[in-house]
Amino acid sequence: MSQRITILPETLTNKIAAGEVVERPASVIKELIENSLDAGATDISVEINAGGRRKICVTDNGHGMSREDALLSLERHATSKIKVDSDLARILTLGFRGEALPSIASVSRFSLATREAAFPEGTEIIVEGGRVRDVRACGMAPGTVISVEQIFFNLPARLKFMKSAETEVGHIADTVARMSVSRPDVAFTCTSDGRELLRLQRSDLQRRLGQVVGRESCQHLYPVNGRDDCVTVTGFISSPELVRSGTQAIYTYINGRFVRDKVVQHAVMQSYRGVIDRGRYPVVALFIELPPEDVDVNVHPTKHEVRFRRQSVVHDAIQAAVEEVLRSSPWLAVPTATVHTSGGTTGQVYRERIAAAAQASLVLPSRPLYRSHPADPTALASATPFEPQERNITVSEPAPSFLSEHRDSEPGGYFSSLSIIGQFHSEYILCQSGSELVVIDQHAASERVAYQRLSQQCQAGGIESQRLLFPETVELSFSEVAAATRFIPDLAGIGFELEPFGGTTIMVSAVPRMIAQKEPILLIRDILADLERFGTSAAFNDALESLLSRIACHSVIRGAHQLEKRQIEELLYDMDHTDFAASCPHGRPVSHVVTLAELQKIFKRT
Ligand code: ADP
Ligand code: MG
Repeated sequence: MSQRITILPETLTNKIAAGEVVERPASVIKELIENSLDAGATDISVEINAGGRRKICVTDNGHGMSREDALLSLERHATSKIKVDSDLARILTLGFRGEALPSIASVSRFSLATREAAFPEGTEIIVEGGRVRDVRACGMAPGTVISVEQIFFNLPARLKFMKSAETEVGHIADTVARMSVSRPDVAFTCTSDGRELLRLQRSDLQRRLGQVVGRESCQHLYPVNGRDDCVTVTGFISSPELVRSGTQAIYTYINGRFVRDKVVQHAVMQSYRGVIDRGRYPVVALFIELPPEDVDVNVHPTKHEVRFRRQSVVHDAIQAAVEEVLRSSPWLAVPTATVHTSGGTTGQVYRERIAAAAQASLVLPSRPLYRSHPADPTALASATPFEPQERNITVSEPAPSFLSEHRDSEPGGYFSSLSIIGQFHSEYILCQSGSELVVIDQHAASERVAYQRLSQQCQAGGIESQRLLFPETVELSFSEVAAATRFIPDLAGIGFELEPFGGTTIMVSAVPRMIAQKEPILLIRDILADLERFGTSAAFNDALESLLSRIACHSVIRGAHQLEKRQIEELLYDMDHTDFAASCPHGRPVSHVVTLAELQKIFKRT
């Protein structure tokens, strides 16, 4: 008889559990803040050094622990938050698994100092790699101080996966910001290497959001108030004007717990469908409250996921609450006097038409053709943004000049030699070459030309940049600011001049010349969201091609656009000086030839 199986020692099982709970310094901070909130703290401060790698320290003014409890809290499955089976179905605290402290203590040099207000002194426990080294009395203010040094010192595999200090700082500040939104009644500070990243006084949700998503963004937020029998949905959502290129500003909380839940996210995005472009995301802070027995938080050790007992009820309640706000379009503060003068149309219908027109114009930032003047409600009401009425619409931007600026006297080639028949559907250029019909996709062609020009400029040492008359500030997440800061020199090479402006704001003072007229800030957001996923400058170089094609795509007019003959000629000329042998940035064909023989076959003339 052989014995192969042994029960693992607790130091090892804790390390295994740590693998799930402690992914990076930000996850330690999340667990520690959860504990502080569960302990009734009203003041929480987070200090980190070297991105949390050297040290993380969380101090709270919560109810603290007795010496016995402090010792117990470091044992696996030790918790004050649930006691019996049935408690699992009614979780009202953020923690309940009794895993965080022993896990964190098993992969770091850890100390816990804690004092209950009724006792004159506190207890300090020193733990190293999961082993208690010292327990002593200490003088301290009531509350708890947990310090985590040299995280993963005994887990080299994890250490290797740690990102740069700035990246970790970004994640940490984002974590604190997210949690702070759930509890505006609690004060938070976050300091990194002595520099204050966040100082949030106790206040209300709207002010707290202003501090977290930025004051300017906050002006585009509108309150949500949805209630039905079992689900309450409150919070704020953004007008379609305020979009981000990722889900980073979608803050959703179930019974006070920040979650990234597919059902919740889907409901939010479903509401914004048709109001914002694909690939764009709103800024949202939504609090979904439902009876604790209707939601299971015991799905994953990090508790970032939940399961709903009645998924569709929750989904529909969120969607209804968000849609109600979007439908009333509160961002269209049309002066009432103007509305009433619109003879014949009832106020409601009129408002809906304005809303529809304005929303459509907001949906299509890349189609300046449809942009009316929002200051003039009459113009908005008559601007029906769909194709058949296209010609009635106020055109507020000059017709696009694709590429004319570097024209020289070089002779044209094949494309210049074509005789232009005209434009089809405002999207394709039709030309004739002998007995062939040449169809050119005007967007793909101009994008390709722009891409080539950008790559040439890039190879020649830098993309032509243009200073903005008025530098613009962009509000981002902390992680995106960290990425922006890290890639400042690289971004300068592709024409962007950025500068951190404190907190979650960066200042943009120059952009690639080719896009200076084309909502460059939207593009910056996209690029920074991309960069946040990259680690290094080497990765930046690997991604350069896709960044250039992003800029190229942004620099040209998308969708249908009527061109003057002169513009078609310019485009054909520029196409002659573009290397179409190289693959098109999106791999789509630029032109297509239909021969006379093919046409004759269609018409059965052969
Ligand atoms: P859980 O939060 O799931 O109960 P933890 O390992 O995070 O498990 O914490 C274990 C216990 O330690 C908690 O249940 C709580 O009683 C106590 N505790 C942890 N942190 C604090 C704190 N900051 N203040 C007071 N008590 C704390
Ligand atoms: Mg906990």
